[in-house]
Amino acid sequence: MRKLEGLSASRGIAIGPVFRFVQEESAPIPRYTISEAEAETHWNRLQKAIGKSTHEISLLKDDRSTEQSDILSAQLMMLEDPEFIPQVKRDLFARLQNIETVLADKVGEAAGILRMTGDTYLAERAVDIEDAFERVMKHLLQDAIGRESLPPGSRNPSPANRFIPPGAILVARNLKPSESLFLKDSGVAGVVLEEGGATSHVAILARSWKIPAVMGVRNALDAVVDGVELILDGSEGLVIVNPGNDLINVYRSRSMSDQRHETVSEAERIELIRSPAVTTDGVQVSLRANIALPEEAEAAREEGAAGVGLFRSEFLFLGSEEFPDEETQYEAYLSVVEHMNGAPVIIRTLDAGADKMIGEQLSLKEKNPLLGWRAVRYCLDRRDVFLVQLRAILRASHYGDIRIMFPMISNVEELDAVLDVLEEAKASLARDSLPWKKRLKVGVMIEIPSAAVCADLLAKKVDFMSIGTNDLIQYTMATDRENPKVAHLYDGFNPAVLRLIRQTILAGIKTRTEVSMCGEMAGDPASVFLLMGLGLRNFSMSPALLTPVKELVRRVSLNDAAELAEAAMELSAAREIRKLVQERMKNYE
Ligand code: PEP
Ligand code: MG
Repeated sequence: MRKLEGLSASRGIAIGPVFRFVQEESAPIPRYTISEAEAETHWNRLQKAIGKSTHEISLLKDDRSTEQSDILSAQLMMLEDPEFIPQVKRDLFARLQNIETVLADKVGEAAGILRMTGDTYLAERAVDIEDAFERVMKHLLQDAIGRESLPPGSRNPSPANRFIPPGAILVARNLKPSESLFLKDSGVAGVVLEEGGATSHVAILARSWKIPAVMGVRNALDAVVDGVELILDGSEGLVIVNPGNDLINVYRSRSMSDQRHETVSEAERIELIRSPAVTTDGVQVSLRANIALPEEAEAAREEGAAGVGLFRSEFLFLGSEEFPDEETQYEAYLSVVEHMNGAPVIIRTLDAGADKMIGEQLSLKEKNPLLGWRAVRYCLDRRDVFLVQLRAILRASHYGDIRIMFPMISNVEELDAVLDVLEEAKASLARDSLPWKKRLKVGVMIEIPSAAVCADLLAKKVDFMSIGTNDLIQYTMATDRENPKVAHLYDGFNPAVLRLIRQTILAGIKTRTEVSMCGEMAGDPASVFLLMGLGLRNFSMSPALLTPVKELVRRVSLNDAAELAEAAMELSAAREIRKLVQERMKNYE
């Protein structure tokens, strides 16, 4: 038996055999021989892949700085090289091996020759060749994935296209949000990750889908083999490898008693769902739901959400090669509105980038993606993609109370630019005689410290602001929300974070602008107690957390919350604030 410790990411107990998922750094290159007749097909595939790559690079080149543009021009030249490409063709027909093999060898050979010259300029051209053809290789491999002719075992591994036995516990280094989508209907009993934190997107999804998860478990993959029995205690952040029958029985009965406890309180839960979110001294609070997929709207309604406070629209874009077109997006937004029966639905525009890369973001290989080409920064450069999404949201707004929210706004100029594109989208709908809600509310996320500091300036231009604590904590504390090594610094009770939150709430009060919170802090009852005291009245959280938070709201008085907040803001450390909140919570037990 061996115990591994990590971070609690999604509550609950899971017991089951291990399924190890080992990601490769990059897709393996399949190597196989081909017939003479097939060589022609492989040559055509190469030309197609080069065509796609050239198109992508040209698009990127158009809106890049001169320096970046020079690099991209060099890559374009490589792809059109009048000597290199015919050499690849000659090799392909002479060697009769698949095009991926021939290309990889040829690129390696050319780059090697340039590096051997010892000339710095030529060595840099070697990097250009490798970069340019890596893009071509990506297209070749993607094209190959759909082909029956590909030898088994040479596909790019993703947990979604591997058979994972239902009831197994998935152990991996990390899962990208796009890779996590499959978890919902996979029957996976639990998830253990070496990386990740409580507010990483995979943790957020696991909580929504009630899959127990522990993250930040160092060397988890090395500590287990496929099939070995595992106990995962999501509440304690604990993983037990090879526990033995006695311990399994202990945890089984603990899990059953947890479930019984839940069954006992089922009647109470239904009562809570029907009851208003009002404090004992009569203050009404609004509790909305965060969703990532349109089908989660149903769970949100069933759990009594007063609307959708955050629809993470980027999940429509993840996991497929093509971006969803206007019609597909329109249908998705419409289906959420229809489920919510007239309650507000806040659709956040595409927050791609950082851990949720799409399209050309992937090939950019940013040094600091968290500080990079993300969310509205990407959308303002890819106006075409942005306009399609805005048109789809606007069209759906005709049928319900849709509100638009822009993520990662960092300053007023950026907000102005985004609002201009929104006007352009409206004008294009007008030209097409398509209706949209004329009094559509527009808001921003406050998730970058600069936005919180200037919340009063932003507030003048919008109808609402929603505090995204997941990123706000990350950027305020300079702490990657997925890095377990620095997880101790990632704490919303840090005075710096609380001051930014308070500043945003006060800016909202001063400018009469609605302020809400949709970060994970809004789903934590202890935090909600404190935040109500700071003046917050609107919270949005995973549907599964709506009843625990409502239960807290109905138990406390605003008077006590305000006293707590006043005392907490005098303290200088997150630990002291947490202790104080816990003490005050005890008064209500
Ligand atoms: C946030 O940053 O708090 C937020 C809600 O957005 P996301 O978690 O998707 O980054
Ligand atoms: Mg965010």
